[in-house]
Amino acid sequence: MLVALLVTRSPLGEFDLRYESIESHGMGYWFLSVLLMILMHDTYFYWTHCAMHHPKIYRLFHEVHHKSTNPSRWAAFAFHPLEGIVEAGIIFPIIYIIPYHLSVLFVFLVFMTLYNVYGHLGYELYPKRFNKNFIGRWLNTSVSHNTHHSKFNGNYGLYFLFWDRWMRTLREDYDTNFVEVD
Ligand SMILES: [Zn+2]
Ligand SMILES: [Zn+2]
Repeated sequence: MLVALLVTRSPLGEFDLRYESIESHGMGYWFLSVLLMILMHDTYFYWTHCAMHHPKIYRLFHEVHHKSTNPSRWAAFAFHPLEGIVEAGIIFPIIYIIPYHLSVLFVFLVFMTLYNVYGHLGYELYPKRFNKNFIGRWLNTSVSHNTHHSKFNGNYGLYFLFWDRWMRTLREDYDTNFVEVD
């Protein structure tokens, strides 16, 4: 959050696409821009996360976050500073590609933090068989990320399972693991 505010208020923010009045783009776009930020972040996270699992850089960037094989909510904030830099990097594509109101950035950052904590919660909040329904098939869950921590490979997504399903990195034990925590 602090990083985002520093960037948008610094010379780096000089060319960003921030607009001042919500009315200038309308409330429809306000909601759309939240969704666009979440989709962009999901894509950014998936690919940088996969990259950080490459054996050549895993230890340097990502091993600290994987110290916890059965994470608690605090694991969401446990990572190496280098990984922190990679994660904070999402702010640049967002502010240079998506026209945004500062309140949208705030909502996005709060959502990001809450979903990250949920992903590391250690128990599932979504209902039974959620993994099988039309919407649940595409949403990332705490079960999915918890398995990523215990098994290390597969389930790289953040908010959604689009990329994991498209790239066939969703672990085969996902559905059975989901049933077990019911
Ligand atoms: Zn990982
Ligand atoms: Zn994690």
